[in-house]
Order: sequence, then C-alpha cells, then structure tokens
Amino acid sequence: MQQLQPPVAVCTASRASGGKCALSPDPCSAPLEAPGVNGFVQKVHSPHSSPNDPVEGEIQAFLIDEDQLHTYDDLTKVNPVTTSTVLKCLQARYSAKVFYTHAGCTLVALNPFEPIPDLYSLDVMKEYHGAPQPQEFKPHIFIVAEEAYRNVQGQLEPVNQSLVVSGESGAGKTWTSRCLMKYYATVAASSSVVKSQDTVERIERRVLDSNPIMEAFGNACTLRNNNSSRFGKYIQLQLDRCQLLVGASVQTYLLEKTRVACQLANERNFHIFYQMMKGATDEQRKEWKMPRSRSFVWLPNAEKTVDEDCFDETVEAMVHLGINAERQRQIFRILAGILQLGNVNFSFSTDESQPCDLDEQSKDFWQRAAELLCVTAEELRTCLRVRTLKAGKQSVLKPCSQAECSMRRDCLAKVIYAQLFDWLVTFINNSMCADKSMWCNFIGVLDVYGFECFQINNLEQLCINYANEKLQQHFVAHYLKAQQEEYVSEGLEWSFVKYQDNQRCLDLLEGSPVSVFSLLNEESRLNRVSDAKTFMARLEKELCVNANVSWDKFSKVPHFTVAHYAGKVNYQIERMVEKNKDPVPPELTHLLQKSDNPLLRQIFSDKETENTTSKGLSRVTVVSKFKNSLESLMKILHTTTPHYTRCIKPNPECKPLTFKKEEVILQLEACGIVETIHISAAGFPIRIPFKSFLQRYGLIAKYLIFKSGSVDVEADRSDTLRQEVEKLLRVVLQHKAFDPSHNRDCDKPNSWVHCGRTKVFLTQLMLDPLEDQRKKIL
Ligand code: ADP
Ligand code: MG
Repeated sequence: MQQLQPPVAVCTASRASGGKCALSPDPCSAPLEAPGVNGFVQKVHSPHSSPNDPVEGEIQAFLIDEDQLHTYDDLTKVNPVTTSTVLKCLQARYSAKVFYTHAGCTLVALNPFEPIPDLYSLDVMKEYHGAPQPQEFKPHIFIVAEEAYRNVQGQLEPVNQSLVVSGESGAGKTWTSRCLMKYYATVAASSSVVKSQDTVERIERRVLDSNPIMEAFGNACTLRNNNSSRFGKYIQLQLDRCQLLVGASVQTYLLEKTRVACQLANERNFHIFYQMMKGATDEQRKEWKMPRSRSFVWLPNAEKTVDEDCFDETVEAMVHLGINAERQRQIFRILAGILQLGNVNFSFSTDESQPCDLDEQSKDFWQRAAELLCVTAEELRTCLRVRTLKAGKQSVLKPCSQAECSMRRDCLAKVIYAQLFDWLVTFINNSMCADKSMWCNFIGVLDVYGFECFQINNLEQLCINYANEKLQQHFVAHYLKAQQEEYVSEGLEWSFVKYQDNQRCLDLLEGSPVSVFSLLNEESRLNRVSDAKTFMARLEKELCVNANVSWDKFSKVPHFTVAHYAGKVNYQIERMVEKNKDPVPPELTHLLQKSDNPLLRQIFSDKETENTTSKGLSRVTVVSKFKNSLESLMKILHTTTPHYTRCIKPNPECKPLTFKKEEVILQLEACGIVETIHISAAGFPIRIPFKSFLQRYGLIAKYLIFKSGSVDVEADRSDTLRQEVEKLLRVVLQHKAFDPSHNRDCDKPNSWVHCGRTKVFLTQLMLDPLEDQRKKIL
C-alpha cells in the first residue's frame, strides 16, 4: 500500500472553469468523448474552453456544464457518484434519446417505449461485431453481447458467459433478451440445419421461434405491461468450437399458473387463449366450441387488442419447431377445454351429506369441457364434487362444499396448464438442443422477474424477491471483484471498502436450521389446517433474532415484514401455507391419466398422485422446488462470467419518452444501482487522473505555501506526475481545512485520499475542502 510522505512542493496551475457545474466523467483524456445521438462516438468540446484553447492533447476542466450530462457514458465516472448525479445524468441522456448507459460492470437500459429506428438493425449489429474495440462505441446492448461473445474465447481457456437482465415489469427485460438472441442468431449463425419429421429448419430460426411460443403461453397483459412474462427463463445458447450457434436450451422458473383461473380486474389471461379466440378459422371455432358470440369467464378483457394477439405467428413458430398438426390439435383442444371449465359453477347445498350440483347454466359448459378434454362427463363431475378420503385400506367418499368444488375446478385448470407449459418447454428443448458433442461453450441469457412489492404480497412475491436477493448477492460479489481489481492495479488495499452484504436477509429466508422457508415447509408438511395467527406466532418466536424481519402486532391481517436490499415488503400469512402445499387432489390426476387425448394422457402419465405420500403428507413444496431450481441456476452462474443489464421503466404509464424521476429512483434502488453506488462510495468514489488533479488543485498548494511564508519548493522537472501529486497532497493535508480531527478516521488521513499508480482516489470528505479552497483562491 502507498503511504503519503511529508509535504514538499506543488506544481502547475489549473485551468479555471466556472458556471453551474456537475463533476465530469473521467477527465484524463481530452477532448471528452461522448455519444452522438444517432451515431457512434463524437468529440465533444468543453463548453468552458475558449475558441483559442488547444483541444487535442490537453485536459479540459473536469467540471462541466450540466447541459453536457447526457455525454456521460458511464455513471461510475460521474464525479462524485451520488444518487442525484446519477439520476440527472440518466434523465439528460433519456431526453437526448440516448437509452443505454454503462454503470461500471452494469449496463443501464432505459425503455424508450417506442420503436427507435435503426437502433437494432442488421447494420448496427455488424458494426458492433466487426469493431476492433466495440467498447469505444456508444453504450448499447450489443456491446454487452459482443463482449460476452469475445469472452467465450477466453485468453487461457474458453469461459461460459451469462447475461443477466433484470428490472421491474415492463422495463424491457424480455425485449432486451430477444435483442440478445437476435444478435447471436445473426453474428454466430451457422449453416447447420435440423431435420425432424417433415420439417427442415436452420437452428437459429428455431432458437428465435421459441420466443413467440413461450410468450404466447407464458405472457399476459397486466396492469404494468401488455406483454408481461409470467415466468422466469434462462436460455443457454450453445456454441461450437468455431463460436457458431449450434443449439440452445431453456430453463423456466415459477410460471404464474393461478392466472389461468383468476385474473385481476383489467388484466387478462395468458395470450394464447385470446389468440385462439381471435385467430381461429370457422372450422377450428366449431371444433373448439368457441363461437364468436360465446363469452368465457376466464377470458376477461377480450375486447382489448394487443400486438401479441397473433395466432398465426404462434402456429407458424410451432410448425418451425416441429410441433405437427395433430399435436397442435391436441394442444388447442386442451386449452379450449380449460376455457369451458371456467364457466362451470356450482350451486350451494344446504345438505352437507349431498354434493353441490352444477348450476343450470353450467351444464353445457361442463359437457363441452369433458368432450374437449376427452374424459367422461360423469367422471369429471364426480371429481369436481366428491373427495375420496383414505381411512386405512378403506376409502370414504365425502361431498365437497361449494367453495371446495370451485377450488377443485380451478386446480384442475391450473395443473393442466402448468403441465402443458412444461411439456412445451421440454419439446422446445428437444427441438433446439444440440448434441453435447457438438457444442463446447454457452452464453446464457437470464430474463427474470424483478423485485416486487405490492399492497398485498404472498408466496409468489416471497419467491420472486428471494430470487432477486440471490442475484443481488451474486452481483455484489462480482462488482466488488471488479472494484478490487482496479484497486489492486492501482496499488490500493481493498480493506477500505465496507459494504452491506445481504447475507442476513438470505439467512432469514433460506438459512438453516430455521428460516422462513424451513418453517413454511414444516407447516406445509403437517397434515393440518394452518391458521395464520398461530403460524405468525411461530415465525416470530423462531426468527426474532434476525434483524431483517419485523412484525406489526396490532395489524388485523397477520403478516411479516422483510427488509430486502431493495426495500421493505409486507408478506401476508393468510393462505401462504396452502399455496406452498399446492395440493392436487389425486382424483383429478387419475381422471386426466385416463383421457382419450394422447397429449393429456402423456403429460400426466408420470405425474404420480404424489404431492402426497402414503401418509398424506406433502413432500415437494413450491418453495422447496423453487429453491432447488434457483440453486442450480446459481451454480451455473457461478461458473460463468456474468454481464448485468438493468432495465429501467422511466414511467409507469408506458408512455414514450417520459421520464419520471421518482419512479426511476425507486428502480435504481430496487435493482441495486444505488447499492452499487453505495459500495463504490464506501471506498473512494472519486478518482482523478494525476494530470487533471494537478491542474485543478495545484494552485491551492502554491497559495498555502505563499500564505504560510514557507519556502516553495518548485516541482522538480524530474518528478513524475505521481511525485508531484504526493507533494501537493502533503502541503494540502497540513492545512487546517483538511484537519483530520474533523474526520472520524482522524489518525488515518489516507482513509480519505490515496495516491494510486495513475489516479488520485478521494472520498467526498477530501473533495469538499479541496473545492472550497479552490473557490476561495479563484
Ligand atoms: P419486461 O420483460 O421487463 O416486463 P418487456 O421487455 O416486455 O418488459 O417490455 C415492455 C414493452 O416496452 C415492450 O412490449 C415494448 O413495447 C417496450 N420496449 C421495451 N424495450 C424497448 C426498446 N428497447 N425499444 C422500444 N420499445 C421497447
Ligand atoms: Mg418480460
């Protein structure tokens, strides 16, 4: 580690710059380089330089006009990095229609909410791909793509890459993932073709075609995004030795299957149902028993048109992936059956010994549902209304209440849809996955749901936010590594950086021996009706030592509050245990296993009536399944070089070119950019190359020497820039304005300033008095 020496001398004067100022990006190179709005790198001259000032080869003032904020290509180079400067910078860039900005090892992508001509064209792809140094171009998702692509051919050995795309709903994650996939399908296109059944397809076509299918089945129109993905996905693009795309595989996470049977007001069911309703031929309509005049409870807001309602595109993609006409027929009949099921209701029965009957209007729908699902109508009716209880070797039939019947109906729809979705994902994988002998490396693209905090949060949000905590931990570790590398290369010790790790929150959620998940699983495995208040008392008793959880004893609704890195979230306890069990009555599974629809039979063939063991206890819970799949994902991520893209939604209304600061700041917080800033601030957030430092503050040392009457030891011509800086710092640090007693770490002046190999590293505590002194002198 470098040590500061006693004061000696000072050197050159700085070029003055005035006006309302913000501190500029890395000022070491002149002229400042900034992005053009539509082109790549343009040269920008400091607004303070006079026409006679030499530009080339000289350093411009490093305080620049706020009007130039849009020229900052990297947020970490805004000096100092604070939430406010970062926000101003992003806003300025957004107004200048510059949508991508680096934030150290992260790329921030602001959603324009309107197509930007030529931003993603083939020519642009080629330019980034062909450039010797794409990083010198203006920030773009293609820089990240290209960097990952070149990284695969690591210097010593190939390294797999992961592109992690995060952000809140509607921020642009799926759009970005699609852009990345298109980029690789273009720059890494191989000539390989895939033959299956009656189709011959190029592999990149298949990879791209997996998107419309998965989006049709897994996306829906929500209040926040007309094309909201209701599942997470990690797609691995497989590359051969020549870096050509030869295949892909996809892993999905936590499909929001409840949407099939329950949609919030003003939201919709999954796109595929509307696509069928709008795009069916007369013949299909007849087969699916979906005349235009018929309305379905599970098809709300059908009048709303969204771009995604394109049945033809989905079918075409299915064909390309090798789903033949007969299979398609089976799929659509199942979906039509689900829709009919949604219109089946039960009348209230006062006699508990008698099952509730179907209400009159429901009878036709029940018949049609049975026909489309290829099961007998009578069996379907019985399964929905009667429960089989096992008592030893004997079975007892118990009629269900009206509410139980509705629950069983919903459960049937959900389990069919979820199994169908899984089958599709498996099919897509089989269709595009290359043989292991053909590929050697991969680039993974992760498109997962961002941090969620609604008025009412339950198990779904708990899982989603847990995933985000995991990813944040991974990101922080990676970011710190990048910081550490810079500190090491500059000869600084890492120990200065104190940062907030989120391990305590993860311990609370998933730790052992006790955590929210372990208690939840324990409760779910007990074969008893769980009562929210009792469970809350249990959580409180067991977890009270963890400072990341709190309880509001006076609240009417039992809940607990978790302090996530992105903010506090209240989780409602009511129904959480039941959701975690996610039971499927065995009668329903048995019914589907007997279906005459071969696909339905197939997707339930290996589904044991498991969820329950012989003792009736639940084995696999939602949380345990999710935790396992996330753990395997994290294992993969740890073996790859990650690249982070944080998508930001500039306004909640999805309006083009509208930037709402309050919204953006919340997202910067939630996606960890602010956290990154804090980490950065915990070390030396301000980094000024030696030459700029001397130009700006050299005057102060001269002035202080003059005032104190001491001998000014002129800078020796043979001094290196670094030695000059050290001399300057020695003089400055002796002055009372820099009295260390004002500082907590008073005995360690180098905790707020440090000389690296090429730059001076400063904290705000050091910069402020430097700037004050400078102003006084000028
Ligand atoms: P998320 O997956 O984060 O929920 P999406 O990727 O679906 O969000 O984006 C929501 C909408 O925003 C898209 O349907 C599209 O209209 C718009 N959008 C996102 N990114 C861009 C972009 N780079 N350029 C133009 N429009 C975009
Ligand atoms: Mg999405």
